[in-house]
Amino acid sequence: MSLHSHIEWTDATWNPVRGCTKISPGCKHCYAETFAERFRGVKGHPYEQGFDLRLVPEKLTEPFTWRAPKLVFVNSMSDLFQPGVPAEYAEAVAQVMTKANWHTYQVLTKRSERLKELLQGRLRFAADQKHIWWGVSVEDRKYGLPRIEHLRNTPAAVRFLSVEPLLEDLGEMDLTGINWVIVGGESGPGARPIRKEWVVSIREQCKAAGVAFFFKQWGGTRKSLHGRKLEGRTYDEYPERISTPVPERARCVSLADAFLKTFRPVQPQRLVPA
Ligand code: SF4
Repeated sequence: MSLHSHIEWTDATWNPVRGCTKISPGCKHCYAETFAERFRGVKGHPYEQGFDLRLVPEKLTEPFTWRAPKLVFVNSMSDLFQPGVPAEYAEAVAQVMTKANWHTYQVLTKRSERLKELLQGRLRFAADQKHIWWGVSVEDRKYGLPRIEHLRNTPAAVRFLSVEPLLEDLGEMDLTGINWVIVGGESGPGARPIRKEWVVSIREQCKAAGVAFFFKQWGGTRKSLHGRKLEGRTYDEYPERISTPVPERARCVSLADAFLKTFRPVQPQRLVPA
């Protein structure tokens, strides 16, 4: 777990999975891939294998050791619901989130159909937990909007959209059942442009639907030049966050031990090309 994150809408990141594969236009300039590939072949580095998918079971118990409640972005360097992650392993991640319940977890995916399937089945025990927020990425109409429909049909106490990088006007969105919307433009070399009217349209739709709205950034090649103000102000709204007392240290240790007794190591699934 990284104690401090530079991501505006979270406090910390936790990566029990590393690596991913691209699935839609929002992945084009994936920051996680750029970061991970920089270290490919560097002996002993966590990203020695670049952006190849790896399960990292030694990271699973980290939330038990972190005793101040945090907003935790789960798998900021990966996607928990990608097909190569075995369902048993996704279940183990969900078990940790339900047991270390003094944190608030933000789980974001582009694999919205698998999110729905698993939360309806094997991960059902984690769906109604108010301290676990389940979200999908929405970068455009073609790939992003159908994910909202999948999320809406997923049993979840808190649902959110990460509309980043926003690549086009999304038009009218159905925000029924959605609790939080984050919007941001792309940043870094080759960043694709964002238009103010696209952002304003989403903000107005959130306002009308009573959905919390968070404007992350305008982005651009040098994002610090453009900041994160929209029409003169920042938007930093969040869904309601529940507060759970942090157990004594000994209790945290015994929760972690109890989890480890039930955990069975698994390997990533090898996917046979169609
Ligand atoms: S799904 Fe996310 S982590 Fe995976 S390649 Fe796309 S942007 Fe990167």
